[in-house]
Amino acid sequence: MLTNTKKKTLIIGGGIAGPALALFLKRAGIDAEIYEARTSSEGFSLTLSCNGLAVLQELGLDHAVLSEGSAVSKWKMSNGKGRHLGGGVLAGGGLKSVFIKRVPLGNIISEEAERQGIPIIRGKKLEDIRMTSEGGAVASFQDGTSAAGDYLIGCDGVHSRTRQIIEPGFQGASFTGLINSGGYTSGVQVPCEPETIHFIFCKRGFFGYHVSPSGFIYWFTNWPTAKEPARDASRGITDEERKRMMLEVYQDDQPFIRKIIEGAETTFPFFSSYALPKQPASWHKGPIALVGDAAHAISPSSGQGASMALEDAAVLAKCLRDFSDAEQAYATYERLRRERTAKMYEVGRHGDSGKHVTGPFKQWFRDLTTPVFLKLFANPKASDWMYSYRVDWNSKVSGYH
Ligand SMILES: Cc1cc2nc3c(=O)[nH]c(=O)nc-3n(C[C@H](O)[C@H](O)[C@H](O)COP(=O)(O)OP(=O)(O)OC[C@H]3O[C@@H](n4cnc5c(N)ncnc54)[C@H](O)[C@@H]3O)c2cc1C
Repeated sequence: MLTNTKKKTLIIGGGIAGPALALFLKRAGIDAEIYEARTSSEGFSLTLSCNGLAVLQELGLDHAVLSEGSAVSKWKMSNGKGRHLGGGVLAGGGLKSVFIKRVPLGNIISEEAERQGIPIIRGKKLEDIRMTSEGGAVASFQDGTSAAGDYLIGCDGVHSRTRQIIEPGFQGASFTGLINSGGYTSGVQVPCEPETIHFIFCKRGFFGYHVSPSGFIYWFTNWPTAKEPARDASRGITDEERKRMMLEVYQDDQPFIRKIIEGAETTFPFFSSYALPKQPASWHKGPIALVGDAAHAISPSSGQGASMALEDAAVLAKCLRDFSDAEQAYATYERLRRERTAKMYEVGRHGDSGKHVTGPFKQWFRDLTTPVFLKLFANPKASDWMYSYRVDWNSKVSGYH
C-alpha cells in the first residue's frame, strides 16, 4: 500500500498548476520539487475567473494578482457591425475575475513557491517514468538526469508526457481548429465599459478586448482554419507581419479593431489551441497523478483552464492531506473533479463552435439565436455553478468518494 507518510513529491511542470500544488502540499506537510522543461516563460494574456482567483486568495496571492492585472466583472458580446447580442457576468461568491498577462501570473505563483523554499528546477524535460518496487517513481529527463520521489504529479499541460506514460494508447489533445494571437495596445480610444471584456463575432474571426482603468488594452483574437498548422509554423514571423495578417482577417469589421491591432506595442506569436475531447480513463496510476490540462485540457474559449488547474491543485493537496493511503487520495481527487471539468469542457466546446461559423447566412442565424441563448445560459443564476465554486481548504475531505 502506498501511504503518504512518505512525503517527497516530484511535480512535473511549473506552469499554473505545478507551483500552486507545491504550495498547497507544503501546507499539508508534504515536500515537493518542481521540474520544468522551459528555461524562460512565455505567454499571452488570460482571464483568471473568480473561482480560480479564490484559490489564489487561499494562498494569499490574490492582491498581487489583482494589482498586476485588471479586474473584470462582466462581458458583452456584439457582432462585427456593432450589434449588441447579449452578455454575462464574470463574478460570483463575492469576487470579481481578473484579466492578466500570463507570465506575471505564473511568476507570482512560482516566486511564492521559491520564497517558501520549494525548488523549481528548470530545463528538465520529462522523458520517462519508472515505478519502483517500493511504490515510488523515478523520473528521467531529456538531459540524462533523473529524480526519485514517492509521488509524481504531472502538471505538464495539454500535451502531457506524464499522461502518455500512464495511458500509452490515449489519443491525446486535438486541434480546436482555431489560431490564436493578441497583444497589448495603449493610447487608442475604443468603445468600452468599465470592468468589461468585450467579445466580437467578426466576419472572419473572433476578437476580444478589455480596457483597464489606465487605458491599457488587453486584446486577443482567434480565427478558424481548416488545417492544423505545424507546431513551429509561426516561428520567424515578425510582429509587423503578424499585424498585417490580422489586419486582413478584420478588414471588413468595425474600424476600431484595426486601430487596436495597428497600435499594438506587442503581439503574441500565432499558436494553435488544443483540447482533450475525452478525459483519460484514469487520472492516476500507482504513485502518479495528473492535474490541470494534463488531465482534462479544455478549450481556451471557456476562459476556465487556468482556474480548473488551480482548483485541481487545491483539491488534490487536500486529499493527500486527509487520506493516509495515496491511492484513496488520488481516486477521491479524481471523483471530486471529473464532473466539473467535463462540464467546463462543454462550455469551451460551445464557445469554439460559435467561432467556426462562416458565411453570411450562418452568421445571420448565429446573431439571431445568440441573444436567446445568452439570456438562458449566461445569466448570473445559470453561471453561478462556474463562478461561485470554492475549494474550502479548511474542511476535511470526508469518506472515500
Ligand atoms: C490561447 C490560449 C488562451 C487561453 N486563455 C485562457 C483564459 O482566458 N483563461 C483561462 O483560465 N485559461 C486560458 N487558457 C488555458 C490555460 O492557459 C491552461 O488551461 C492552463 O495554463 C493550464 O495550467 P497547467 O498548469 O495545467 O498547464 P500549463 O500552464 O500549460 O503548464 C504546463 C507546464 O509544463 C511544462 N511541461 C510540459 N511538458 C513538460 C515535460 N515533458 N517536462 C517538464 N515540464 C513540461 C510546460 O513547459 C509548462 O510550463 C488559454 C490557453 C491558450 C492556449
